[in-house]
Amino acid sequence: METTKRPISYETFPNSGQVAYFSMEIAIHPSMPTYSGGLGILAGDTLRSAADLGVPVVGFTLLHRKGYFQQHLDRNGAQTEEVQSWSPEDFCTEEPARATVSIEDRVVTVRAWRYSLEGRFGHIVPIYLLDTDVEDNSGWDRGLTDHLYGGDTNYRLQQEIVLGMGGVRMAKALGLNINVFHMNEGHAALLTQALLESQVGGGPLNAYTDADIEQVRRKCVFTTHTPVPAGHDRFSTEQSIRILGGDRTARLEKLGCFQDGLINMTLLALRFSRYANGVALQHGRVSRQMFPDFDIQSITNGVHAATWTSAPIQQMLDQQVPAWRCDNLYLRNLIDLPEPRILAAHARAKEELLAEVASRTGLVLNPKVLTLGFARRAATYKRADLLFADPERLQQIAEAAGGLQILYAGKAHPQDGPGKALIQHVVEDAARFSNDTLRIVYLENYAWDLGAMLTAGVDVWVNTPRRPYEASGTSGMKAALNGVPSLSILDGWWIEGCIEGVTGWAIEDGANDAEEAQSLYRKLETAVVPLYREPAEKWGRLMRTTLAYNGSYFNTDRMVRQYTRNAYYPGVLVERLAKVVEEEASFAD
Ligand SMILES: *Cc1c(COP(=O)(O)O)cnc(C)c1O
Repeated sequence: METTKRPISYETFPNSGQVAYFSMEIAIHPSMPTYSGGLGILAGDTLRSAADLGVPVVGFTLLHRKGYFQQHLDRNGAQTEEVQSWSPEDFCTEEPARATVSIEDRVVTVRAWRYSLEGRFGHIVPIYLLDTDVEDNSGWDRGLTDHLYGGDTNYRLQQEIVLGMGGVRMAKALGLNINVFHMNEGHAALLTQALLESQVGGGPLNAYTDADIEQVRRKCVFTTHTPVPAGHDRFSTEQSIRILGGDRTARLEKLGCFQDGLINMTLLALRFSRYANGVALQHGRVSRQMFPDFDIQSITNGVHAATWTSAPIQQMLDQQVPAWRCDNLYLRNLIDLPEPRILAAHARAKEELLAEVASRTGLVLNPKVLTLGFARRAATYKRADLLFADPERLQQIAEAAGGLQILYAGKAHPQDGPGKALIQHVVEDAARFSNDTLRIVYLENYAWDLGAMLTAGVDVWVNTPRRPYEASGTSGMKAALNGVPSLSILDGWWIEGCIEGVTGWAIEDGANDAEEAQSLYRKLETAVVPLYREPAEKWGRLMRTTLAYNGSYFNTDRMVRQYTRNAYYPGVLVERLAKVVEEEASFAD
């Protein structure tokens, strides 16, 4: 539904260059398996909002020709993985430009496929997917852009050279004018080295000055996503010398990019960035503790509203606050939405979800019954099995609620043994504890489509990470945009999003898993279940405040505006805004 006659585009803002957004994974299209989870979804949502807002951004990522895997679970919950090949030609256009990088003394040729991501008003954000499967390259090098997070650390470092250094050189070969390089996580940190080498004009690798480094820093922006030390990419000196080269390794050592004898990609990105941020208020704090030498800000994540709201919710929003599509802040005006409207829209989303469950599993669930959702990567810190800490108590809760349905989903990384064991454990528990009152289902192959259906269709979104390991989390934001409250640990975004009884409920901090499980049960017994049993209008009020308060804030429309003002173009906004106002005035004439 068109709501404004003319878009106000950020294209009228900085006219001197573009932002290049680098990410190892980007969820571009539901049928392109070029992402694994939260980081890729965030990158895709960022670019979708940039396209809507007209921010001059281009994306760089790897092609991942063999895709991230499709998950199969057998009856006992044992995971097997299947390669998801796809055809770039079906979605993208090959660019004639070529670039080269050196890897282990070999020259590797890189090409790029362009995907045109179109925003709401027709602004295009081109995404370049880098590909080494070209004739010039040897067999090994042709496979460098096949697997997302596959192979060993040697493979990973080689991929990071293709992404960071290949990306910078490809931008040049494409004739792009880039004045901001945004590294989405440390995987792209080597782009700083390509910029430095270009800055010194391809001379000897040790010939650079502080002024050269400052020139690079002026162009670079970095977002860290990982509050777990082991989550930061690190490589040994031996690997670095062998793959990246001795001169580069010596330079990186001299510039302080090593920690504990390992080259640390987060440190490298921080050293070369003029602006750095974590992805939620608390994650900024945690990151500053991890890297006390750096000024690390925070910009809280969001999700792309029009991508993650169900069709029934979108119809309701279009009638109620049509301007939400141009400016997500208008979702705040839902504060006086009549309760029956949101209840009716949600009921339709829930029916769609339950129909999907039935078609996948043959299990027919009851749309009237309280339904909890829990879906995320099966990392052990997320404690997917916390709900089963006391099965008898869970059964009592189900009885008090007049029935309880719990939907699970999530993949484990193929090399993550403990993650796979956790899935198996949850699947076993689901079978053991399910009965007529309590139904627990584990759904296969959690990905974009299923994620959207789950977050829109359940009644409560549950999240149980161990603090402080959740940098932000975004699935609860998708739920909020559909009016679905969260019941979560106060970690990541939920510290900012939780208003007790208004947008959901907090699981209180405990000294250990058992105590936090107690709090989870207590909240279900004393808050969630009693409210669900009240006349539906009360639940409708909760959904309304969840959508109005959290939907209006935890979206990438707000987030991209923050990146634009604080990271990409600090200071220029006031001046440019004046120009837009002027143009608006002349347009009105
Ligand atoms: C949104 C989403 C994620 C990230 O959600 P978290 O809350 O960070 O777990 C991961 N995978 C899929 C498929 C998603 O849709």
